[in-house]
Amino acid sequence: AQNGSISRKRPNILVTGTPGTGKTTTALAVAEATELRHINVSDLVKERSLHDVGTLDAHTWWEWGIQGQKEIDDDIIRGSDMINTTYHVLEVKCYAIVCDELEGVMEEGGNIVDYHGCDFFPERWFDLVVVLQTDNTVLYDRLSKRGYSGSKLSNNLDCEIFQMLLEEARESYSQDILMALKSDTIDDMSKNVAVLTDWSESWIPIAAP
Ligand code: ADP
Ligand code: MN
Repeated sequence: AQNGSISRKRPNILVTGTPGTGKTTTALAVAEATELRHINVSDLVKERSLHDVGTLDAHTWWEWGIQGQKEIDDDIIRGSDMINTTYHVLEVKCYAIVCDELEGVMEEGGNIVDYHGCDFFPERWFDLVVVLQTDNTVLYDRLSKRGYSGSKLSNNLDCEIFQMLLEEARESYSQDILMALKSDTIDDMSKNVAVLTDWSESWIPIAAP
């Protein structure tokens, strides 16, 4: 079996998708029905991130980026000089710290994790990876209601149109554990919660060799 060293007695589920597709609402409902622990990674990343770190020189900026552990937010003011470029960095997302902090509970199992990204978690953590997908006009309304506008709104709609999270999940996890679910209506939501609840309750641990 894949992941031969796994010893958890309850499964870990990752719910991913573009913002507004219903990850948190779905994950909370599944957590309530199954007693899985809901982990909202956005909150953890927000708490751990470095805000307004000030001006970085181009080399440091590049180094941080390629470490793959810190993701520098797009809100960057570029210097005009192409050689001595400096960047004012408003936010650095510290994924490595968040992953270290989650290692213990993930090893234990019994978690439903929710985040709009999936490529920085260790692959071995998850028994099921769910990608929620929403029709674009429906998503437009949800994100507008949330107060998104301008490039923040259009970037997220593009993310959904180009199925970026599905692609990221395909690149990061085995096809065997991927599930794409439509999340347009309340009816979809109820079905998805039922599917994930059933899946979780019938999950049997893979024996360690
Ligand atoms: P995410 O965590 O993916 O950003 P949320 O769970 O916060 O999304 O949902 C965003 C909004 O859309 C909430 O108001 C929620 O009630 C609504 N919503 C989410 N999924 C559905 C759905 N399948 N049908 C109807 N409304 C939904
Ligand atoms: Mn959410």
